[in-house]
Amino acid sequence: MKHYDILVVGSGPAGSAAAITAAKAGLSVGVVDKASFPRAKLCGGLITGRSAKALDHVFGLTLDPDLFYRSTHIRFLSDGTLLSEITDAPDMYLTQRWDFDAELHKRAIAAGVTAYLGQPFRDVDLAAHTVTLRNGTTLGYRCLIGADGVSSPVAKALFGQAYNPRTIGFGFEVEAPHDHPKSSAVEVDFSATDWGYGWSFPKPSSQTIGVGGVQSRSPNMASAMTRFVNQTGADTHGAKRKGHFLPFGDFSKTPGKGAVLLAGDAAGLVDPITGEGIALAIESGQLAAKAAIDALHAKAPKTAYRRYKRALRPIHRSLSHARRWRWMIFPKATQPAFIAAFTQGSSMPRRYLDLLAGRLEYSDLHGIYLRKLPKAAMALLRKRFS
Ligand SMILES: Cc1cc2nc3c(=O)[nH]c(=O)nc-3n(C[C@H](O)[C@H](O)[C@H](O)COP(=O)(O)OP(=O)(O)OC[C@H]3O[C@@H](n4cnc5c(N)ncnc54)[C@H](O)[C@@H]3O)c2cc1C
Repeated sequence: MKHYDILVVGSGPAGSAAAITAAKAGLSVGVVDKASFPRAKLCGGLITGRSAKALDHVFGLTLDPDLFYRSTHIRFLSDGTLLSEITDAPDMYLTQRWDFDAELHKRAIAAGVTAYLGQPFRDVDLAAHTVTLRNGTTLGYRCLIGADGVSSPVAKALFGQAYNPRTIGFGFEVEAPHDHPKSSAVEVDFSATDWGYGWSFPKPSSQTIGVGGVQSRSPNMASAMTRFVNQTGADTHGAKRKGHFLPFGDFSKTPGKGAVLLAGDAAGLVDPITGEGIALAIESGQLAAKAAIDALHAKAPKTAYRRYKRALRPIHRSLSHARRWRWMIFPKATQPAFIAAFTQGSSMPRRYLDLLAGRLEYSDLHGIYLRKLPKAAMALLRKRFS
């Protein structure tokens, strides 16, 4: 049986980040994935400034135009009505996860990680520190990192379920093929569905159109998706619509136990408002690896979880702030005031972009929004009674 200092399950952005970090620190690292790369992953593929920073920091990856389509143009909408348009936004990059994840996985392998591909994780023996794959292969570990996505079998093995079905998010997407993007504009519609939003992302050979939100609060998401696709005017004839869960604000308070850590979607680390998960997947994968490395250096693998939980505190704090923020954006009663604040001048949309770029935190946004609110409420009252 092969033994690894650190065994990672899942080689998406979180798993590859954990694996490359641990391998670069000189540890023996194995990574298991049920897929072989390249593989499909339903995702808008929007790489924000925050993701770009994490990619550079963890993978040394610069955003090559072959893999990343750059846009500085964004349109914010509400039910198809333009709220605000910015043509000099901070850089946003659009990529296809098929190529993107394969590149990250390749970099982890180049750093010395051993891969077990095409083999799903079957179970873990926490007492023996072993993982068994579906083909019967058994691998030993000192620390285990579950980076196996929203339906995480590692989280299920630890806690019986990977996510809470009452709070989980869901997203639909379709790729509308084209020869050239008609426009470089990234579009976000805040009213495309209840407790969620719609997006249209331009890419060199297709337009990714999607609608996502909190599943239990957005029961008509499938018809919202049809409406939104029609709104974009894209030709999706023959293109397949797909759906996938996403932990949209559903982060886990206990992302691990002893020598087992959960990272990325497996730990529910997706922004509760923007739905962005790639940056947090990379950041948490790296933090999980660092916590495991420190625990192994201290010859105390079981302290890995305590170390990781401490390192995750700023991310958890920020996600908690964002979850409170959702009550100002998504409910039918408060959304009109948010929309009104968003349309006044350009300061709110720019703050939203600063947030995506990782230049601002949700805690900074509170004061700005609250200052805008009285004006927005007055504008709303004027509109209602004129
Ligand atoms: C519709 C939609 C649109 C999105 N758009 C964006 C966006 O534009 N920008 C953004 O930043 N985020 C977006 N997200 C979120 C983003 O996709 C995730 O947050 C991100 O992929 C999380 O990375 P991860 O490495 O944690 O998990 P994943 O990327 O899901 O990787 C998990 C890996 O684990 C493997 N795995 C699963 N089960 C097993 C098993 N049993 N055994 C072994 N391996 C296993 C999988 O094959 C996979 O390779 C979107 C999500 C959805 C659903």
